[in-house]
Amino acid sequence: MRRRRLRIAGTVQGVGFRPHLHRLARSLSLTGAAGNDDDGVWCEIQGLQLDLDSFEARVVSEAPPLARVDSVRSTAMPAVEGEQGFALAASETGSGTVAGTVPPDVAACEACRADVADPAGRRYRYAFTCCTDCGPRFTVVRSLPYDRERTSMSAFELCKACEAEYLDPADRRHHAQAVCCDACGPALSLETTLGEAVDGDPVEAAADLLGAGGIVAVKGVGGYQLACRADDGAAVARLRHRKHREEKPFALLVDSVEAARALVELDDLACRVLSGPEAPIVLAPRRASAPIAAGVAPDTRLLGVMLPATPLHALLVEAVGATLVCTSGNRSDEPIVTDDARVQPDLGDIADAVLVHNRRIERRADDSVGHVVHGGFQLLRRARGYAPGAVRLDRGGPPVLAVGAELKSTVCLALGADAHMSVHLGDLEHPAALAAFEAAVADLLELTRTAPELVVHDRHPEYLSTKFAASVDLAPRLGVQHHHAHLASCLADAGFRGPAIGVMFDGMGWGADGTLWGGEILVGDAGGYERVAHLRPAPMPGGSAAVRQPWRMALAHLHETFGRDLPALACVTDHIEDAPRVLDQCRPGQSMLTTSMGRLFDSVSALCGLVETATYEGQAAIRLEQAAGPDVRRYPVEISAGTPAVIEFSAVVEAVVSDLLAGRQPSQVSAALHRWVADVTVAACHQIREVTGLSTVALSGGVFQNRLLVELLLPELEQSGFEVLRHRQVPPNDGGIALGQAAVGRAMLAGRG
Ligand code: ZN
Ligand code: ZN
Ligand code: FE
Repeated sequence: MRRRRLRIAGTVQGVGFRPHLHRLARSLSLTGAAGNDDDGVWCEIQGLQLDLDSFEARVVSEAPPLARVDSVRSTAMPAVEGEQGFALAASETGSGTVAGTVPPDVAACEACRADVADPAGRRYRYAFTCCTDCGPRFTVVRSLPYDRERTSMSAFELCKACEAEYLDPADRRHHAQAVCCDACGPALSLETTLGEAVDGDPVEAAADLLGAGGIVAVKGVGGYQLACRADDGAAVARLRHRKHREEKPFALLVDSVEAARALVELDDLACRVLSGPEAPIVLAPRRASAPIAAGVAPDTRLLGVMLPATPLHALLVEAVGATLVCTSGNRSDEPIVTDDARVQPDLGDIADAVLVHNRRIERRADDSVGHVVHGGFQLLRRARGYAPGAVRLDRGGPPVLAVGAELKSTVCLALGADAHMSVHLGDLEHPAALAAFEAAVADLLELTRTAPELVVHDRHPEYLSTKFAASVDLAPRLGVQHHHAHLASCLADAGFRGPAIGVMFDGMGWGADGTLWGGEILVGDAGGYERVAHLRPAPMPGGSAAVRQPWRMALAHLHETFGRDLPALACVTDHIEDAPRVLDQCRPGQSMLTTSMGRLFDSVSALCGLVETATYEGQAAIRLEQAAGPDVRRYPVEISAGTPAVIEFSAVVEAVVSDLLAGRQPSQVSAALHRWVADVTVAACHQIREVTGLSTVALSGGVFQNRLLVELLLPELEQSGFEVLRHRQVPPNDGGIALGQAAVGRAMLAGRG
């Protein structure tokens, strides 16, 4: 008889790992014990050497679907006399750093969905059915280790039947921390926005209301959502009006992959992602026959669809018998409501009723969003289902906290070889988002009991994340250039050390020379970078006004191309009264300069007459992308020699203007502009490869959310022999910045040590 102690690290808590050990031990007739502690899972096993070896191998090879084993450390121990059976110990909490992590929330598994659908079962139509393979995690956890008493399930005492399942190592719900049933768990109710109960079955009553064109606030996994029928134009319009969300697309909730397929075109990968445990919103091209009100997504041919993430959502969409709009429960762009006490003040005049339950949401998590482009799934918003899942770094190092950018804020804590990423926190300009940001920082440090050695922030002095980093006395600080962080993020995401050619196209970020960058080609890695090419700078007349009103930016690009002698396009004549003042702001020294590629998309969108005032971030560029027709024309590519090389925009602006004056359609101009951005990128990469010998290209920045551009650019780069790195685990937009900042911080500490 031999005995061993195993230490298993990784995502091993709250994913059915101890039951897995128990089953394995029993199948091999081993005795011993297992438990959770601050470092992950420990277990002791005793038996024949052969069986112990088999156990060790199968611990990893047969790990539960949601587990991620990073390491197994095995040490020999003296055998114990007369041990019987295999016991699961209660958790031990102690001091020290927690290496185990909170798993993300998991959509209802197939077995649980079957339980909910089984009229003979005791969980028939029970909205909170879950097991060790599925259910809420991150959003119900108060602290680690992940055990029921430290979750919002602690308020619900297990009934006898649930307790028997919880204690039975052979049961699917063995040690499932959120296990419950109708008799003992959370309960649903339908209430008016004043908190008065509505009679009848809550789901049926909510479905009736929705069927009649009503708007229902639904308490989801990581926050409240707002639902209405997606085929009811009046209901959708009402929701937009009440929510103050004019044109930004709404997501849709459907009851099955087949239903999703009837609305949008989905390839196999998109179907797999859609029905996976993360259950994100997947953007895909709509079918002409989709019975969806035009107001759901007025700017785009894409629809965002998702499957029910919980039995509650499944029951609701089934009871309505139609596709539902299911959008974040908030006013405009504020963070989604999680606190029951905020429902009345924040959603009271939006919703007609509230489908609510009595389990607390401990942590906010929006629905995640992504799309399949060029054969890969790319996240655009990383939250429920993914966060706080860590991005694995290629090596360990001292703890580094990165506070991200400002729009699409996320924070990141690099701890060991894990980069723990917060959920999407929103735009820090909103006080509630800023509060969520501060809470997320505290949360990351508290859950992992970590004191960072370095706090990394953006160089932008006005970002509230920068100001936060300066105001807290956590550790020494490091400011990292925005596009360097984008590059480092893409490299860390791809697990590539670099150096690489980094094509960083976005709205804008604070440049190293006091201008606003955004059309940058860098060469470097996490340790440093050189700016090897950029778009020619243009003034941003009126600063942020030029972002909201893209015609201002268009006038600037026209001014840089034609001087004060502006062409007679509608974009100019419509603003003829404002033009002199805007052109004055274009004179040297009167406005900030920007090299932003995003702003060039905005300008061309405005020149095409596609947008007047943007009602949400990225709208002008989205409309331009959506306007694109077949791609036939090519615009001239001009890149100067030298370092940094300058990518000239005036030739393309001239070509756009002459096309529009010649009566060509926005569809042709848009297609040609997308093609030009791809051409100019490929040409610049060739030029840089000749000098540096580098043939790996990393793509990052919000512009790479553009599907058409990626579809045009990737094949060309690949055909030219470049290896292309794209984001997979974090978004290419500023939601991925914190990861890159952390990587740069790590590199800086490593270089110093
Ligand atoms: Zn399940
Ligand atoms: Zn029960
Ligand atoms: Fe950016």
